[in-house]
Amino acid sequence: MSLSSTLNGLYIDGQWRAGSERLQVINPATEEPLATVSGGDEQAVKQAVDAACAAFSQWASTRGAERGAVLRAIANGVQVRREHLMQLQSRNNGKPLFEAAIDVDDVIACFEYYANLAEGLDAQQDGAVALPSTAFAARLRHEPCGVVGLIVPWNFPMVTTAWKLAPALAAGCCVVLKPSEVTPLPELELAAIIAESGLPNGVFNLVCGTGLAVGAPLAVDPRVAKISFTGSNAVGVQVMQRAAETVKSVSLELGGKSSLLVLADADLDLAVELACGGGFFNAGQMCSATSRVLVAAELADAFLSRLKARAEAIRVADPFDPEVEMGALVNLAQYQRVLGHIERGLRAGAKLICGGERPTDLPRGYFVRPTIFTDVPLDSALWCEEVFGPVLCVRSFATEEEAIRLANDSQFGLVASVTSRDELAAERVANALQAGLVWINTAQVIFPQVAWGGYKQSSIGRELGPWGMQAFQEIKHVIRAQK
Ligand code: NAD
Repeated sequence: MSLSSTLNGLYIDGQWRAGSERLQVINPATEEPLATVSGGDEQAVKQAVDAACAAFSQWASTRGAERGAVLRAIANGVQVRREHLMQLQSRNNGKPLFEAAIDVDDVIACFEYYANLAEGLDAQQDGAVALPSTAFAARLRHEPCGVVGLIVPWNFPMVTTAWKLAPALAAGCCVVLKPSEVTPLPELELAAIIAESGLPNGVFNLVCGTGLAVGAPLAVDPRVAKISFTGSNAVGVQVMQRAAETVKSVSLELGGKSSLLVLADADLDLAVELACGGGFFNAGQMCSATSRVLVAAELADAFLSRLKARAEAIRVADPFDPEVEMGALVNLAQYQRVLGHIERGLRAGAKLICGGERPTDLPRGYFVRPTIFTDVPLDSALWCEEVFGPVLCVRSFATEEEAIRLANDSQFGLVASVTSRDELAAERVANALQAGLVWINTAQVIFPQVAWGGYKQSSIGRELGPWGMQAFQEIKHVIRAQK
């Protein structure tokens, strides 16, 4: 990637264009500039929505099989450029290459899954609806909801994009995508793949830029039927308020403060592995981070000493280091935000068990050591708010009921994990947790067939599965009198 030139950050109506703004993109592991991307503004958003509107009626009327073929071509294009995309993810986001490989494979699986669903639409369309009267006949149509705006964050750049883009295209919608200004490079590469996939011009449009310059005008444009947003709660609320002005449908994937529950008969090695995965994967920058670890009192001491030993042994390093286990935080703002949370936790009386600072062998880059706290006050920001960094709060519980109460005592309800040798107990606890997805005795595996989203202030709607496509469809019934 050349630093001397500025990458075009707009892909509108099948053409790459330069935008009026300049976005500096950095490598968070080295703090060095990676690229300059030209970002758009209100005018660019208007042009992208113009193109999407012009393409809509033709794309909406294509057969599902045709849309499926394009989605499959995108999946193949991602597969062909897998290695390059992994490197871009790692370079732009700071995540280890092995994590970037999981991201890219998730993107491929997502486009393939929605290719299948698009193909299945042809058989479903215009299906008869059983009525209690022979005087009438009714049929059901699933129609694309229109031009949609997709706004995504920086923590899993291509993945959050694929979870919206693949079902939107499968449903027959035209799209304006706004990637995070922090990590636009993977999406620019994905757009280059889409440009070669056979998708008609104007169906997919990309406008890089900041939230205020691009996201805000997209949310207010009256021609946009729906906004699908993933990001922080603060911005999600603003997007919802703006979308309300033109009564747009919104899907929101927001923050989390999720728990791992280690029941009294848990396998300690597995529990430690799950705690590290749930807290330190992607340097903890996951909406699904299980940053509260609730452990049965009888196991607490043994668990904590093993967890501390494992966390201290985690190799924090450059994402391209062959031994790396945890990479860098995404940028200076996130690094300062995480250190600020740690500082406030200490002031609130929490006890630092390990970490809490940058590794001494890494003077540059936005690295923070895996951090564990105990004795975290239940009303502190550290316990209640999303840290979005490699920070775990460990707390013991006396009874199953207390564990469930502690886990559910949150404004969020995205995910949870449970570990126990007693399957019945684990299933019982899973049923009692207020979360959209619960894992039992496993790391956070994700399948496109299984819904993503949560309770309370974590989400509105669900992504993935058939629900992910329904989010971009309108339901139409046609009733006629029978002769
Ligand atoms: P963010 O809310 O700052 O930004 C998200 C996106 O919104 C970016 O593209 C940004 O440019 C844009 N934006 C900012 N201001 C805007 C405005 N006024 N109008 C329209 N768009 C605007 O979030 P972030 O820091 O990029 O990502 C971290 C957050 O994302 C965390 O809170 C995390 O929990 C959340 N997240 C949630 C999920 C989920 O599935 N629930 C997944 C990943 C990340």
